[in-house]
Amino acid sequence: MRIPRQHFVFVVIALSLPGTSASAQSYKSRMENPIVRYTMAAKLDPATRTVKGRYALVWKNHTPDTIPDLYFHLYLNAFKNIDSTFMRESAISRRPERLREWKASTEQDRWGWVDVDRIQIVNGPDLTSSKSFVHPDGDNAADQTVMRVALPQPIPPQGSIEVAVDFTSKLPRALARTGYVDDYFFVAQWFPKIGVYEGPGDRGRTVGGWNCHQFHANTEFFADFGVYDVELTVPSRYVVGATGFLRSEHHNNDDTTTYNLFQEDVHDFAWTASPHFIRLTRPFEWGKEVRGDEIVTWTRILGLPADQVALRDVQVILLLQPDHRSQADRYFRAVFNALKYFGLWYGAYPYDTLTLVDPARHSNSGGMEYPTFITGGTYFWPGDRSSDPEGVTVHEFGHQFWYGLVANNEFEEAFLDEGFNTYSTSKVMDVAYPPRCAYTRLFGMPVPLFPWLRVQAPSFPFAGVGEIPMGAYLSCVQSADYIDERNDYLDDAKDDELVRKGWQYLNGTSYRVNSYDRVAATLRTLENYLGPETMARVLRTYHQRWRYRHPTLKDFIKTVNAVSGRNMDWFFQQFFFNSNIADYAVTDIIKTPLEGKVGIYDEGGKKVIHQEEAAREVFEKSANKRYRSTVVVRRLGEAVAPVDIVVRFEDGGVAREQWDGQYRWTKFVYDKPVASAEVDPQGKLALDANFTNNSRTAQQDNRAAAKWYVRLIFWIENLFLAASFFS
Ligand SMILES: [Zn+2]
Repeated sequence: MRIPRQHFVFVVIALSLPGTSASAQSYKSRMENPIVRYTMAAKLDPATRTVKGRYALVWKNHTPDTIPDLYFHLYLNAFKNIDSTFMRESAISRRPERLREWKASTEQDRWGWVDVDRIQIVNGPDLTSSKSFVHPDGDNAADQTVMRVALPQPIPPQGSIEVAVDFTSKLPRALARTGYVDDYFFVAQWFPKIGVYEGPGDRGRTVGGWNCHQFHANTEFFADFGVYDVELTVPSRYVVGATGFLRSEHHNNDDTTTYNLFQEDVHDFAWTASPHFIRLTRPFEWGKEVRGDEIVTWTRILGLPADQVALRDVQVILLLQPDHRSQADRYFRAVFNALKYFGLWYGAYPYDTLTLVDPARHSNSGGMEYPTFITGGTYFWPGDRSSDPEGVTVHEFGHQFWYGLVANNEFEEAFLDEGFNTYSTSKVMDVAYPPRCAYTRLFGMPVPLFPWLRVQAPSFPFAGVGEIPMGAYLSCVQSADYIDERNDYLDDAKDDELVRKGWQYLNGTSYRVNSYDRVAATLRTLENYLGPETMARVLRTYHQRWRYRHPTLKDFIKTVNAVSGRNMDWFFQQFFFNSNIADYAVTDIIKTPLEGKVGIYDEGGKKVIHQEEAAREVFEKSANKRYRSTVVVRRLGEAVAPVDIVVRFEDGGVAREQWDGQYRWTKFVYDKPVASAEVDPQGKLALDANFTNNSRTAQQDNRAAAKWYVRLIFWIENLFLAASFFS
């Protein structure tokens, strides 16, 4: 084993500082040559909602290109005026209501921006005058979220540069993901952040260049891995949480405290500060959370030695709102479940800490992910069976594994993060929690559970209100994430092709459908076609191969084909690169009696006529009536996929057929009476738009009637449900 150099330096520094946590020393950097290294100091002034900062950035050119300039994201300028790309797009589709309210607020402080006050090459020339705003996405000259700085000397291949940057960040009133509400500060996308320079071959590029998109209403982020060594100074009464682990803490004379946070192998740094947080920590001790038989199972499925399936202990930090005190256990349990299952399936969470922030009300900062630092979200009164805070916590934690570790480009391929995460979050929820309730019946009448319990109640000072025993009066109708995912996809299935750049979807709904729900349903379908254990090996391999790198969909497809040993290109062509809908149906079962001979037959050199009447008489009297049955299976959708068909006969026999699903229809003919037929009997094609036409019975027997009865009851209940919404 070789200890990377910066790890060695880091240990020396860590040991020389007081207050170093033991766990800090267990972290081993995976990067021998990180592309970015920020050494930063920043100070929050709560009165002016401003952060003043300064950093030194060492940036490495990892490519064979000679690079004449630097590109930086100035994300906070999205909140500077209504002409930013983010604001223009938000007004049209993503968050028009919220934006209208935000703009109408009389709060003078609500706009946000970031200024680069000075940028200089360390021990070199001042570059401040050579900065300019650029618009790589080409559509809005007024946008100021990307800055280019021309260099006096280009950076040679494999060379590096060190720049010192002074900046002022005015935080917006929280509109999306970042900003303040009263004295709660959620500080994300807050410093001038260098873009990603991609060389030839990186993510399939043929020509190198900066990948540094404007801040769009829908899209998230993309950055290179490296080291963040950050000193944050805040008023001492504030509680701070951030990316990384706390290396030291120093109380200053002016009633402020400086916290030094440090993390390697991450691609962003975000933090929060509020005087109201309750800070709780609990260790995730993997030896207590994972049973021996679970290790055995996963070593077998993944084909790995036990030590590669082992997890690591993690310090979990929870910053809780005071009126959510009673939900601490639910939050911690959710993180522990996520650490366990994501770790077992994709590989151990590699960092020493995970900080979970329970966001302030109306802060628009809930449900977001940053490296080792996530926000959850809950309600004043979540029901026992409500999906939050667990659902959002597991989801945001899951991003540590996709966005965080398999750091795909969220601007260009958002689905590789959100979609994979939605799929894997559902799987964790499936194994770790009982099914949740879609709606409940109160004294037999259906009532929608969630809207009712999610009413924003005022913060009563008494604890335990979340445990009012309503369960006795409510009965639950079980639901699952994958049902919602499929339904949401089908509502907007034709809006876009799945594979699009994040800001190029029709609208916010289509972005969500194609980045989250549709991908989850599609991956579930892929899993059904590959089998669960092959899918587990595919995802493990993809995750491990692309940790700390920037894969594309093509890299995933390659992994699928290599690990499964099958060419699944057809699957991606059908379900990722177009907007075709899948719908296979059994449309007809035609049964004709085999009456024997009717008509003229050549018999003994003569033409002999057989009358139908006589044949029918024989047929009617026969104890063993014979039939010819024809089963018609049709492809009603545009999407093409191989499907299985199961045919059941009246005599109890079963035929299993396979169809490549290519042409518009196929027929199967049998010389005996068919009772029923079903296409895709295992429900592999989870994307199928209409399950009710998948099966058909030859006659309206009792079984079919029962099916219709159930469907009718379900329909009536839904009608009641709808009525209760509108009444
Ligand atoms: Zn997400």
